[in-house]
Amino acid sequence: MDWLGLHFITELPDSGQVILHCTHDPILVLVAYLVACAAGFAMLDMAERVGHVEKSAARRLWCWTGAACLAGGIWAMHFIGMLAFEAPIQIHYQLPVTLLSLLFALLASYLAMHTLSHPQLSLRQYLQAATCIGLGIATMHYVGMVSMQSDAVAYYHPALFIASIVIAIGAALAALLLSSHLRDGSGIFHQLLKYAASLVLGAGIVSMHFTGMAALNLILPADVPLTLPADNNHLQLGLMVAMIVLLIIGSSISAALADKKLQNKERDLRRVNALLSQLDQARMSLQQVAHYDALTNLINRRGFNQIFAEKLIEKTNEGGKLAVMFLDIDHFKRINDSLGHDAGDELLKVLASHIKSSVRSHDDVVARFGGDEFCLLISLDNHDEARHMAQRIMHKLKEPIELAGRRMVMTTSIGISVFPEDGSTCEELLKNADLALYQSKGSGRNGLHFFSSNLKTRATLEFQLEEELRHALREDAGLMLYYQPIYDLKRGQVTKVEALVRWEHPVHGLLAPERFIAIAEANGLIAELDLWVLRKACEDLGTLTTAGYDELHIAVNCSPLNLARPELADEIELALRKSGVAAHRLELEVTENALMGNIANTLVLLRQIRALGVSLSIDDFGTGYSSLAYLKRLPLNTLKIDRSFIQDIPKATQDMEIVQAIIVMAHTLHLQVVTEGVETREQFEFLERFSCDYVQGYLLSRPLPLTELTPALEEINQRKQPHTVNPLSLARGTGSPGSPDPFPGSPDSHAGASIVRPIR
Ligand code: C2E
Ligand code: CA
Ligand code: CA
Repeated sequence: MDWLGLHFITELPDSGQVILHCTHDPILVLVAYLVACAAGFAMLDMAERVGHVEKSAARRLWCWTGAACLAGGIWAMHFIGMLAFEAPIQIHYQLPVTLLSLLFALLASYLAMHTLSHPQLSLRQYLQAATCIGLGIATMHYVGMVSMQSDAVAYYHPALFIASIVIAIGAALAALLLSSHLRDGSGIFHQLLKYAASLVLGAGIVSMHFTGMAALNLILPADVPLTLPADNNHLQLGLMVAMIVLLIIGSSISAALADKKLQNKERDLRRVNALLSQLDQARMSLQQVAHYDALTNLINRRGFNQIFAEKLIEKTNEGGKLAVMFLDIDHFKRINDSLGHDAGDELLKVLASHIKSSVRSHDDVVARFGGDEFCLLISLDNHDEARHMAQRIMHKLKEPIELAGRRMVMTTSIGISVFPEDGSTCEELLKNADLALYQSKGSGRNGLHFFSSNLKTRATLEFQLEEELRHALREDAGLMLYYQPIYDLKRGQVTKVEALVRWEHPVHGLLAPERFIAIAEANGLIAELDLWVLRKACEDLGTLTTAGYDELHIAVNCSPLNLARPELADEIELALRKSGVAAHRLELEVTENALMGNIANTLVLLRQIRALGVSLSIDDFGTGYSSLAYLKRLPLNTLKIDRSFIQDIPKATQDMEIVQAIIVMAHTLHLQVVTEGVETREQFEFLERFSCDYVQGYLLSRPLPLTELTPALEEINQRKQPHTVNPLSLARGTGSPGSPDPFPGSPDSHAGASIVRPIR
């Protein structure tokens, strides 16, 4: 078989001379081997790069770089190998053919690199690729041989020729398998393995070449004389080619190394970035938890304070007003108590969204401080804007809400403070808005109040009063009881007195309960105060019994807050036992609103109290719900018609009808009726005419201290039929009879009068 002047598997010619003395320059052989090893190493390195780069353009680049290194290496090894070949003939090389051989090397190398760019291949695929690559390299070798021009003809030993191809395929397979195996990994051991593998690959490539060379027989025609090998520069040329190729390979490997480092750095950077963004997310969700209210998704107190502080700095620097608006849903507790907390939560969500939808822009802040308390922060130009917004919110919140199958209408109390007028710090503005809210709640709820400086002085005063009340209770100093007679119209005498608390304040003088009951209620002192009154009243009743009033009953007021204390029944029992007073002589006055809170629990407590023998009276009837359905269920004895129904009688005919109706209704329910605030004779006669059972009021007597009570009782009771005498004379209490007083409420008309004057 002849190919381009090379004779494969062809019998040697009969004539001619076989050149036997063919040698190789050992230095160049060694250099060729080193170059082959370097090519092998470059391939392993580039395969690793190709396997690890992420972008396809980079993968292609390293594929070609690897192919160029490998091809350059193999080709140079072959070239140097040829230069190492020494024979006693003149040899020269054809450059174009040599370059053609380089092309084959490049094709084979690219195929190798391309194969390695696939992450996973089967052994069969590796075998196929190795065969192609091996054949490519062999082709390169034998094309290279074609470029060798001399007088001799090249004949190839068939077995060695085939062996050289098999070795090329074997070396290619080894290269592929080692490369794919060593593609992943790191560390010194991995690097050492790569060096070892490069030596093996170098050996494979070199073996192929020298097996091919061994297969070569140069036959010189008989007429051509042998020549001595001329001096040549093969060594220098070989070394130079080696140097160039090694330089190329070396710089490619360095570039790969740099790229690897860069990529690692990029990856690290990305990882750091990912970690940072994870951290950011974690921080944000922490912020969400820390600064937002989970139920309504509004910001919470902490978040609000942060924004508030920022806005305050902004307004301080740039000017402008800021309103702090405190919102409290009226009687929200009742929803929780009656419909349960889930319904309460639902309602809060709806209310929160109503509030949010009522504010003007993103600039306004809506926060939930907990419970039913909301707080708003609004940038504005004048007070009216805040008022309009508050009114808008109140209006919006009044829209009926469907909840647990019911339609409910909620109202709101609002307190507003404005920066810079009402304070310069967050704390101050919040406190002042709270004070204004307190004012709104105090004046019947469902309203809005702006903070004013008298509110502040009042608050300070209130705080002081609270401290002093605490002290008064602890030391039992200053508190005292006044008693107001309750006249039995049927029996024509006083059969009951109502105990009304007073406080002889060291600075402000005698204080009426309306000055300190609310303070006691707001600060957890009311239980103690009412207990003090209860004990004192029982004790005084004991004294009155000794003085001969053994049938007199005493009525004691009970704060709504005390009805939530189950221990109240025991306290009453103990007070009665200690004073030795019969239970039926004690009456407890509770307001109707107090009974509506948690009716189930209140009922249990009221029944316990009734079971002791103590009477129960519903106070201020007509000012609250006045629900007959509730009244029927309660174990009541007496109903007290509120003063407001009587004060305009006889002028207000409607009030007269109402009072008549209440009396009839109460009697139907077997309740006795007391009418409070009876100040005139007409009122007295009207009540008597319509079968009211008892009357209480300044007409008969103002509340009196115990020492003044007995003479007053004496005086009233002496009149068997008080309406036959001028009852106004009785209004003077211990004062001289017979001088009518048309204004019994005037401060100087009686010792008790000054006490109802609020402190200024
Ligand atoms: P109340 O239970 O409705 O007591 C009746 C109030 O009406 C008393 O005011 C009494 O002085 C006043 N009053 C009686 N007759 C007349 C009248 O003819 N004309 C007018 N204008 N007023 C009259 P006071 O003593 O100032 O008590 C006010 C409220 O303070 C009481 O209203 C009661 O709710 C509360 N209170 C009084 N003592 C206690 C107590 O010991 N404990 C509790 N929790 N509250 C008390
Ligand atoms: Ca009362
Ligand atoms: Ca009353």
